[in-house]
Amino acid sequence: MNADIARRVEEIALDLASTLSVVDTPGEVEIAEKVYRIFSEMSYYKANPQNLFYVDVPNDPLKRKSVIAILEGKKAKSDKTVLMIGHTDSVGISDYGNLKEYAHQPLKLTEKFRELDLPQAVKADLESGEYLFGRGLFDMKSGDAVIMAIMEMISEDIDHFEGNLVFAAVCDEEGNSAGMLTCVGEFGRIREERGYDYLALLDADYITEEYEGDPNKYIYIGTVGKVMPTFYVVGKETHVGESFKGLDPNQIAAAITSRINLNPEFSDVADGEVTLPPITLKQRDLKTEYSVQIAKSAVVFFNYATHCSTPEVILRKMIRAAEECFEEVTDTLNNRYRTFCEMAHREFKPLPWVPRVMSFDQLCAAVRKEVTGLDEKIKEKARALMQEEMDSRDRSTRIVAFVHEMWSDKNPVVIVYFSQPYYPHVYVEGKRPKEKALLEAVETAVQDTKSDYQLGFKKFFPYISDLSYGAVPEEEGVVETFQENMPGYGITYDLPFEAIRALNLPVLDIGAFGKDAHKFTERIEKKYTFNVAPELLYRTIKNLLK
Ligand SMILES: [Zn+2]
Repeated sequence: MNADIARRVEEIALDLASTLSVVDTPGEVEIAEKVYRIFSEMSYYKANPQNLFYVDVPNDPLKRKSVIAILEGKKAKSDKTVLMIGHTDSVGISDYGNLKEYAHQPLKLTEKFRELDLPQAVKADLESGEYLFGRGLFDMKSGDAVIMAIMEMISEDIDHFEGNLVFAAVCDEEGNSAGMLTCVGEFGRIREERGYDYLALLDADYITEEYEGDPNKYIYIGTVGKVMPTFYVVGKETHVGESFKGLDPNQIAAAITSRINLNPEFSDVADGEVTLPPITLKQRDLKTEYSVQIAKSAVVFFNYATHCSTPEVILRKMIRAAEECFEEVTDTLNNRYRTFCEMAHREFKPLPWVPRVMSFDQLCAAVRKEVTGLDEKIKEKARALMQEEMDSRDRSTRIVAFVHEMWSDKNPVVIVYFSQPYYPHVYVEGKRPKEKALLEAVETAVQDTKSDYQLGFKKFFPYISDLSYGAVPEEEGVVETFQENMPGYGITYDLPFEAIRALNLPVLDIGAFGKDAHKFTERIEKKYTFNVAPELLYRTIKNLLK
C-alpha cells in the first residue's frame, strides 16, 4: 500500500489514542465526537452530510453513542455493501501505575518505557523501534484508523468506486456491547431504506501471536462464541457435629470444577480448529455468615468458548458432567462413611443421597405444577432485583434460588442454567454463496498482498468481540434454549436476536498486529499495522464488491 495511506493510518491512530476513552466513562462520548469530526472533515461528507450520523445508546446514563459513516460508490449503481465495525472504547489505565498520565500519549509513553525495567520480550520490541505503546492503540484504535483511512482514500475517488461501505464506530465493546447491539437494528433500517445487500461484516480488532514465536499474521473468517454455563448446587445442611448427615454443596461444586476446568474434552472443534477449554469465573457457596452449619447452596460458572456447539448442546454436556460429579461425590462419601463406621465401630448404612441434575427450564416445569402464576412471579422478582445494586450474574442466581425455594422437593439437586452474557459463535463453513464469496475474497487478497510477513487466513477470530452479533447459529432452538435457561431473560438481560438473525452475515477480522492487549505493555507493530493491514482490508473489500 502506498506510503501516504500508512502515514494517514498512523496519524488517525495517534489522534484517536490521544483521547482516553475508557469503557463506561465520558471519554466514550468524546471519542465518538472525534470520529465524527474526522469523517466530517472529508470532502465526501461535506457533500453528503446525510451519510454521517450518531446512533444513541438508549437510556444510557453517560449518553454514549456510536457513529455510522456510509460511503456510496458513484461508478455505477450497486446494492452490494460491506458492513464494517470497530470499537472506540478501551479498558482502564490503572495498570500503568505512575505512568498513567502518558497512557494516551503513545510517543511519550514509548520513550518513558526506556527508563523502565521491562520483561525481556517487551524490552526487545521496544529496542527494535518497530513497536508503539499506548492504551487502546492496539485494542483497537489502530484498527479503527485502518478502516477510516481506507474510507477516506476511497471517498477521494468515489466516482471510480462501485458498491457501498457502512462503518459503525461503536462504544461499550469492552463492557456490554451496547454500541453494537443498538447498531444491529440500525443496520437493518439502513438496508431497508437504501436497498443494500450486505455481503459480510468486517471488524478490524487486534490480532496477535497465537503462541510465542508464531510467525503468522492471519485474517480470521468467523468468530469464536461464548456462553456461561452455571451450576446452582443445593446440598443438605447439617451441623458440623453431625457432618455425615449433610451433603456439602461445596464438595459437588469442587467436583464440577475439577471435572470441567481446562479440560480439553469440552473444547469445541470445527474445521480442525480447537477452542480453549472452559475455565471457572466464579465458584463460591452462598452462605453469607460464619456459623457451624454447612452451606446450603453453592454456585459455579464457567467461561465456555464455542465454535459450533449450540447452547442446547452445551447444556446437555454440562448436565451430563454434573451427573457424573454428583455420582462420584455420593460414592466417595459412602466409601468414607463406611471406613469411618469401621474405625468408630458403628453400623454402616448407605447415605440417602440420590444424584440428580436438571436444567433451569426443567426446574420451572416442576415448580409450575405446584405454583400458579410462576412466570409472572419470576418476572416480578427479576424487576425487583433490577432495582438492587449487584452483579447481573448474581441476579440470575437469586432467581434460581427464588424458584427453587417455592418447590416442595427439598432434596439435593444441581440446577444448570446460563449466566449472561451470550456471544454466539459465527461459523463460516463456506456452504452458503455469501460465505463462499467471502472465503474467495480473502484468499485472493492474501495472495495479492506482497509483504515480508507470512500471511494466511484461518477460521474463528479467537477473542470475544462484537463480531458475534453478526449472526445467530442456524440450528433450531438456539434462541429458545438460551432464553428458557437464562433466569430473568428479557428483564435482567436481553439480546436483539431478531435483528441479529436478520443480518445473518459471514464475519471476518482484519486487525492491527501487536502484543499484550489489556496489559500496560499493549503495543502495535507499526509496519504490519500501518502498511499491510490496510492493503489486506482494501483488497478484501474490493474483491467482495466486485
Ligand atoms: Zn477489542
